[in-house]
Amino acid sequence: MNEISRPNSLDAYWMPFSDNKYFKGDTSRMLARAEGMSYYTPDGKEVLDGTAGLWCCNAGHGRVEIKEAIQKQAAILDYAPTFQLGHPIAFEAAARIAEMTPEGMDRVFFTNSGSESADTALKIALAYHKARGDSGRVRMIGRERGYHGVGFGGMSVGGIGGNRKQFGALLPYVDHLPSTHLPAKNAFSRGLPHHGVELADTLENLVALHGAETIAAVMVEPVAGSTGVLVPPVGYLQRLREICDKYGILLIFDEVITGFGRLGTNFGAERLGVVPDIMTMAKGLTNAAVPMGAVAVKNGVYDTVVNGVAGGIEFFHGYTYSGHPLAAAAAIATLQLHQSEDLPGRAMAIEPYWQDAMHSMKDAPNVIDIRDFGLIGGIELSSRPGKPGARAMDVFRRCFDAGVLVRVTGDIVALSPPLIIEKPHVDRIVNTLTDAIRAEAA
Ligand code: PLP
Repeated sequence: MNEISRPNSLDAYWMPFSDNKYFKGDTSRMLARAEGMSYYTPDGKEVLDGTAGLWCCNAGHGRVEIKEAIQKQAAILDYAPTFQLGHPIAFEAAARIAEMTPEGMDRVFFTNSGSESADTALKIALAYHKARGDSGRVRMIGRERGYHGVGFGGMSVGGIGGNRKQFGALLPYVDHLPSTHLPAKNAFSRGLPHHGVELADTLENLVALHGAETIAAVMVEPVAGSTGVLVPPVGYLQRLREICDKYGILLIFDEVITGFGRLGTNFGAERLGVVPDIMTMAKGLTNAAVPMGAVAVKNGVYDTVVNGVAGGIEFFHGYTYSGHPLAAAAAIATLQLHQSEDLPGRAMAIEPYWQDAMHSMKDAPNVIDIRDFGLIGGIELSSRPGKPGARAMDVFRRCFDAGVLVRVTGDIVALSPPLIIEKPHVDRIVNTLTDAIRAEAA
């Protein structure tokens, strides 16, 4: 096993979403290598990955098939533009994605991240309405506690105060539905909670307030991951779909986390039985080996935008790296693995065991809620008085020291392991986490 040395200076790198000052004073959480279900620190210590990196390495780490596909592609075509030019592998990757999306959603636009996918989806919605001669539809509806990345569009439609406050004026004409989180009624629900379908009706209030003719799209995550695993109540997404249809509003699902097997199906749309008009994705698309995102749209959305322009460029949007050959190669290899190893099916098969394991932590100290759906789990702890987030951060550090990677957001511990997880891994995650929660309380 190769030992990888620590860098001499930590000063240059401005780390994202991190406590730079703290981390640079305590670098014990450096990850140097990964394989299968685990990371390894520079000293060779194993850390079981309870979070698939950042909800993205769904096929596990170090997959040889993906590595070889990237290496092979790099030797054939390192880069080629996709503005008014094409290269075959980008078309092949799009076709593979279209095979996995719900029926009739066969057009795919490439980006490089979930954030870019979010902003691309919002721009597609605007271009769609404009092409139909409905250019008054410029208002976007997001949801409190929604996360759609950090671009100005996604950040504005997202509903996380902490991510917005530093940046002053955001996108205008944005409103938010209430979060679907109803702890008083739904605490410790297994799978989809039963209360709160009526929260979708708030969309009717926003239509009454602003006029349907001003609303372009509603954007939600099928399951909100980053803000602590908020699972929608039974029937909620169906209700949103109905109201959107009634008023000609586009429904966008942000499937950046819920795509590629996380909920036991290719996409959350399938598991939850609701087909959106536009769907964003990233993360699991390439197993995170190379950055790539995508936006899939219903054929009618594509046709409207493309036919809405007499000639020349139809959609004034794109990235230098849209459909990058190495990313496309990684995506094709990843999606082949999904199929050959039936990763969604594996996730579905182990879900009951995972669910029991999650809820076995119910009686641990300070646990005030547990939520799960697919291979996602959220364990909410009561906050230390006056110090929100401190308790979960303590638990996170204890877990890491004990060799298990969990993620924290506020006082919620979020889990989303690679879909290749087996029962002994589940047990180890839960035992380590339970011990850490107990130790923190003591
Ligand atoms: N949308 C959702 C639902 C996400 O969970 C994330 C990242 O966690 C994003 C968008 C942003 O993705 P990225 O960090 O690749 O820009």
